[in-house]
Amino acid sequence: MSTIHTTEPDPESQLILHTWRKLFENNYGSELDRSSLYEEEVFGFEVRWELLKNTPLHSIFPNNPKKALELGNQVIREQFQNRNSITRPVIRIVGFDQEFSYYLEDVRTRDRGRLLSFQVTVTNLDTPMGWLKKSKYICHDCGVTWSVNQSLARERKRSTICLDCEREYIKQMKESKGKAKIPPPTHNITMLVEENVYEDIQYIEITCPSMISKVLEQEDSNQIYSYLAVVDDEYVGSLSINQEVTINAWVELDHLPNRDFAMDTRRVFIFKVHSIESKN
Ligand SMILES: [Zn+2]
Repeated sequence: MSTIHTTEPDPESQLILHTWRKLFENNYGSELDRSSLYEEEVFGFEVRWELLKNTPLHSIFPNNPKKALELGNQVIREQFQNRNSITRPVIRIVGFDQEFSYYLEDVRTRDRGRLLSFQVTVTNLDTPMGWLKKSKYICHDCGVTWSVNQSLARERKRSTICLDCEREYIKQMKESKGKAKIPPPTHNITMLVEENVYEDIQYIEITCPSMISKVLEQEDSNQIYSYLAVVDDEYVGSLSINQEVTINAWVELDHLPNRDFAMDTRRVFIFKVHSIESKN
């Protein structure tokens, strides 16, 4: 038995879902039909930014890229499943306009949350690792299961009570004016460890190619900053040191490495990579 907490999507979500469906059907029909042949566990499905330009996504995406992508990924997963593909697709938007283009060295805290495009040189690669993206729980009183979405490099969020049992108890208390015939909700829940969802990630260090050329050209300049970025899924293990690529990434702030984020107010930028474009 699994819980159904679905509500009708809001009008903007419906518009986003409809737009993605049309975009895939009109432009990527043959690629989608090939999806049953893909054997990768995760398949990065590249979508050109210009295709979004004549659709409502052109204005929705820059203001709410996370929502637009989450719903888009839902649509493309449906499209793959309809074609009996075993692969999990993820949308990777590439070819962003000049207006998204930015220099790493110009990034400041005001840019937090923006999705921007950077020319970068990879300077270091960390060991690939996994993180707990979603944990799953079961209530032993009513049998319902639910998921808790986690955040990267933050304390794990945990459930302590079954919300269905709690809701039912409150409802019965109200209806019976405080004389519910069922006991109050217990804490009889456990995590379904084997159903937890993990994601592959890799921390990388990047710098601006322009900083490197400045140091090479000017004797008095020796400043090369490197920045922390994190890639996921099919990008893990795909980059090499000194490689020059364009990354389209969210600017976020993270605690200093090796420090407890709750104990220290200083933050470093971390670039959460949405898509990578190789230079040919
Ligand atoms: Zn329950």
